[in-house]
Amino acid sequence: MTFDELGLNPEILKAIAEVGYLQPTPIQEQAIPVVLMGRDVLGCAQTGTGKTAGFTLPMIEILSSGRAKARMPRSLILEPTRELAAQVADNFEKYGKHCKLNYALLIGGESFVDQEKKLDRGVDVLIATPGRLIDLFERGKILMNDVKILVIDEADRMLDMGFIPDVERIVGLLPKLRQTLLFSATMAPEIRKLADAFLMNPKEISVAPPATAAATVVQALAVVPTEEKREALRRLIRSENVTNALIFCNRKRDVEILYKSLTKHGFDAVRLHGDMSQPARTETLDKFKKGEVRLMVCSDVAARGLDIKGLSHVFNFDVPMHSEDYVHRIGRTGRAGREGHAYTLAAPADGKYLAAIEKLLGTSIPRIEIEGLETAALSEGKERGGRDRGGRERGGKDRGERPSRHDRGSRQREKRQAKVAEVIDAVIPHPEQEVTRHAVLEASVALPQPEKAPHPNRHQRRAAGRDQGGRDHSPEAPAPRPPKHGGGHVHHEHDDGLPGVAFGDHTPAFLLRRSRSGEAR
Ligand code: AMP
Repeated sequence: MTFDELGLNPEILKAIAEVGYLQPTPIQEQAIPVVLMGRDVLGCAQTGTGKTAGFTLPMIEILSSGRAKARMPRSLILEPTRELAAQVADNFEKYGKHCKLNYALLIGGESFVDQEKKLDRGVDVLIATPGRLIDLFERGKILMNDVKILVIDEADRMLDMGFIPDVERIVGLLPKLRQTLLFSATMAPEIRKLADAFLMNPKEISVAPPATAAATVVQALAVVPTEEKREALRRLIRSENVTNALIFCNRKRDVEILYKSLTKHGFDAVRLHGDMSQPARTETLDKFKKGEVRLMVCSDVAARGLDIKGLSHVFNFDVPMHSEDYVHRIGRTGRAGREGHAYTLAAPADGKYLAAIEKLLGTSIPRIEIEGLETAALSEGKERGGRDRGGRERGGKDRGERPSRHDRGSRQREKRQAKVAEVIDAVIPHPEQEVTRHAVLEASVALPQPEKAPHPNRHQRRAAGRDQGGRDHSPEAPAPRPPKHGGGHVHHEHDDGLPGVAFGDHTPAFLLRRSRSGEAR
């Protein structure tokens, strides 16, 4: 099939030809005609499949007729992170360059004044992160009555990051009569419930993930003593033919430390994490994407969805604590059929996390030795933050990694985690299967919750957010969150060590509704 057969106007086809796309990807082939028909879409597709063009191209076509009124956007795209929102905006710029459409990007960390000015001029497409959109709505700067198309992108990521209550609220502000497109990399039961609540008779489209990591990414792992990790990384970078690389750390603090260390050793590096101002984040990413700098040390803010052309290497300076983050991180390389390389540096205490990653991959990551460095052994079952064989305290603040779990609160959390694990074992008959978030959620909510300080109400939370320069729902925003108590799948601890929970502090209404099978949740 060619793009000409999809029903797009000549201006859009011209832009597509200029970008150099020869034929639509499977998600584009399936989604574009359905969106043009005005139908709701439930798309199961990951980044890398071309899904962004799958919804932006028909949206440009639909929106080419008609005009936006001041402060009344005609369509809305919700993205979980600022970087993804900016990437979608780039797509509109590329594909819509011959059509007269206005778009606005509403993301945290950037000036309200500029965003308000754009809204005043009238925008056809509004691309936003949920927090900033609600802020502008509450300031009376935006009216949602004219939104005819809503896109909820990366719904599973929204769920992980606790944005669903905000998304629900935003959807409640939109006209009932609209077209809704929901995309998610996975179709967990919670996403299906969201779809039931937000979509009307959607066309379900599912495409296979781009190439599996194993097919195009050459993976390798070196276990080295913690104090040798930086040296190990330097040796790896020097020995590899690195065109450009992302180097992932688990925590923002470590991103800074590693960045300073690499630049001190003469490496050409920048860093990216959620504590940086938005202009600095944007500038850094631009520089890296343009190839002006070779290495970018980053937190998981760069793990999902970022499309960096021809990225040759990913280095995991830290083993991620959540196995699916490993897949997202290494998926930044080996894109578009090109070979990529992913090296992971593990410390002896990372055994448990590696085991979870290898279980998810269904294979073990080939071990390598780094020339001139001692290879360490994994201490099985030990958590990071425990004591290593030499009896030295690990994982404390000085080490610059996640806070020690061996404080009182952490011990309680560990006890609860053990209980959750027991319930999960009972719920999931085949432990080798991937543990679904749904099962873990059900297991974890079934447990008695410990007493905890009352949560701040919305006003208190908002006041706290303003103190930090406005509401910020970036993945690493230091928002108050209830304690972590899950099996690691539902409850994410972000890289500042703050615990997170999928639904923030209120159970979203869609979970309280009766499902189609009649079970109330
Ligand atoms: P996405 O999944 O939307 O993040 O897109 C992944 C990458 O595929 C981006 O770099 C797009 O520019 C590229 N892309 C999207 N559609 C096509 C196409 N039809 N042909 C070639 N590349 C494409």
